[in-house]
Amino acid sequence: MKLAMIGFGQAGGKIVDKFLEYDERTHSGIVRSAVAVNTAKADLMGLEKVPQENRVLIGQSRVKGHGVGADNELGAEIAEEDIDEVQGAIDGIPVHEVDAFLIVAGMGGGTGSGGAPVIAKHLKRIYTEPVYGLGVLPGSDEGGIYTLNAARSFQTFVREVDNLLVFDNDSWRQSGESVESGYEEINDEIVKRFGILFGAGEINQGDEVAESVVDSSEIINTLSGGGVSTVGYAREEVENSGDDSGLLSRFTGGEDDQVDTAHTTNRITSLVRKAALGRLTLPCEIDGAERALLVMSGPPQHLNRKGIERGRKWLEEQTGSMEVRGGDYPVPDSNFVASVILLSGVTNVPRIKELQQVAIEAQDNIEEIRQESDDNLETLVEDDDDELEPLF
Ligand code: GDP
Repeated sequence: MKLAMIGFGQAGGKIVDKFLEYDERTHSGIVRSAVAVNTAKADLMGLEKVPQENRVLIGQSRVKGHGVGADNELGAEIAEEDIDEVQGAIDGIPVHEVDAFLIVAGMGGGTGSGGAPVIAKHLKRIYTEPVYGLGVLPGSDEGGIYTLNAARSFQTFVREVDNLLVFDNDSWRQSGESVESGYEEINDEIVKRFGILFGAGEINQGDEVAESVVDSSEIINTLSGGGVSTVGYAREEVENSGDDSGLLSRFTGGEDDQVDTAHTTNRITSLVRKAALGRLTLPCEIDGAERALLVMSGPPQHLNRKGIERGRKWLEEQTGSMEVRGGDYPVPDSNFVASVILLSGVTNVPRIKELQQVAIEAQDNIEEIRQESDDNLETLVEDDDDELEPLF
């Protein structure tokens, strides 16, 4: 499906930049337009792919291009005040050609954390296209203020978008890596998973191999109904001779071919299990997910309807959902068969509960420290017996 992407803040901008690079490399055609919004000039300058005219610096009169620190209330205020400047860039998007908006932001910082829900609310008021969020949760080692920001932004962002796709940095960080190289890999992972998912809806139904190709309406239907989503992924390398003999075998059904078909089916079902039970973008219990979409990508001769049907049934059992969709995403020149599973409307998410708990503790601590330092300052400035008078 074709998306208008809006990256808010540093993480948001970098991830949208990566999506553009992915699009160029794979010709997936998912980014119809890309806009980056920030209060920090340096972050906008650091982007490589987002066109210059689509980089919007907001809050210049307030923070002079230096960013908002990790103050997400200020980030939200500035986004409200300068919404016309953001709209100016969005006016350049041929909205009739996009299937949906995707607002990308790190939820632990200031600009994206505060601004992303503001722009979501604005877009929903103006356009009829769905507005999705891709929100990144901070690592638990980033500290209390980031957790508090994320918890507050999460509550607001979920309410303002048609669906919030979540990626949790915490379950993806690797020890011993510099933060920068760590993000590099994490961003690749984000773009790969969501790139396959959204790219699936971009294949034309008219293609010769389109047995059961995922359509963008299936992605939209899986995301409709709102709430929070997570994405699973697994892949296996395959030999890709480039011919379509496997596809033929589905029709001719020779003995060897049947073995092949059985193998293909088994590979698919095992990849579905691995994707659903492995590391999700937001770790959660899949039981209780309201809707799901299974996308099998790879060379067409390695995909088959039976495998997808079995995988879909298995997902129905595991999630208890009656709305599990599934289909192909044929990528003729790929050397991998991959399974991407979108679980939408997940509610059993211990990670969010834990985030909220830590956020509440941080909030209490911040309040306590502020009170204490007010008291300490008063003790310092005021003389003991109140004998001095201030000037005015
Ligand atoms: P903002 O510019 O004020 O919106 O804040 P940032 O985007 O710099 O940071 C917000 C949060 O996003 C941080 O707390 C990190 O958890 C996360 N973050 C920052 N940069 C990246 C990145 O490149 N990739 C990912 N996945 N997360 C990032």
